[in-house]
Amino acid sequence: MLIETHAHLDYPDFAGDFDEILRRATEAGVTRIITIGTSIESSRRAVDLAEKYPNIYAVIGVHPTTADESSEDVITPLRELAKSARVVAIGETGLDYHSLPSVELSKDRQTQVFARALQTSTEEQIEADIHDGAYKSKQASLFEQQLDLAVELGLNVVIHQRDAWDDTLAIIRPYSDKLRGVFHCFGGTRAEADEVLALGHLVSFTGIVTFKNGRAVRDVATQIPLWKFMVETDCPYLAPVPFRGKRCEPAYTRIVAETIAAARGVSLAEVANMTTQTAEEFFRFKHG
Ligand SMILES: [Zn+2]
Repeated sequence: MLIETHAHLDYPDFAGDFDEILRRATEAGVTRIITIGTSIESSRRAVDLAEKYPNIYAVIGVHPTTADESSEDVITPLRELAKSARVVAIGETGLDYHSLPSVELSKDRQTQVFARALQTSTEEQIEADIHDGAYKSKQASLFEQQLDLAVELGLNVVIHQRDAWDDTLAIIRPYSDKLRGVFHCFGGTRAEADEVLALGHLVSFTGIVTFKNGRAVRDVATQIPLWKFMVETDCPYLAPVPFRGKRCEPAYTRIVAETIAAARGVSLAEVANMTTQTAEEFFRFKHG
């Protein structure tokens, strides 16, 4: 029995064969699936799915990469959605500096470098830096709002962090005695994992642990205590080997768990039991 703790079942990728996907998950022993909202609209769809299917639960939140399109106030609509008894956490929320405006600009410039005067580039660079700052502070505001709401509702938080480690930790640190977070799709070092665990938070691992170049993450998944992590797919992304590059789905949670079990030299049942217990405590499923 496994719990898929991070799926995006509301994405159009799954619309064509939704019931087949659920059947394959059940056959693989993945008995519960947590579907994660990435915007207000996506969170609403997540709640709808969770209210329709008894083995699906919803996490509602606004993803940092949707910050630009998001309204300033996300607490009000999320608080409304959280009235559903099927909502088991807030997220995914956090910080993502991977595609900052200045980064996009420099990518752009590589192809156009000869066409631009230096002066223009400098002005553009200043402009991009201003956009970076605005984008980062909007992400931080959305993140803090969602942490505040989680505290208010007594829920835990699913955290997305990419290329923004220090700022993410700085924001979550003061909340660490009021809620627990899971650093989902963990891809950091052992030291970073230890930092998160020391604050009382958790990590979770995706199909990256099966990748040839996923050795470092696999090592972290092997070394940290068995009761400090959960398993997930982040589907439709990050399909594990041998499905790498294809559409991912919740059934593959089993491959993630099997890979970690093999790397740790323990049985699949042991990883399944422990990660399920951890997920039950984290998400609480209190409303059944
Ligand atoms: Zn996700």
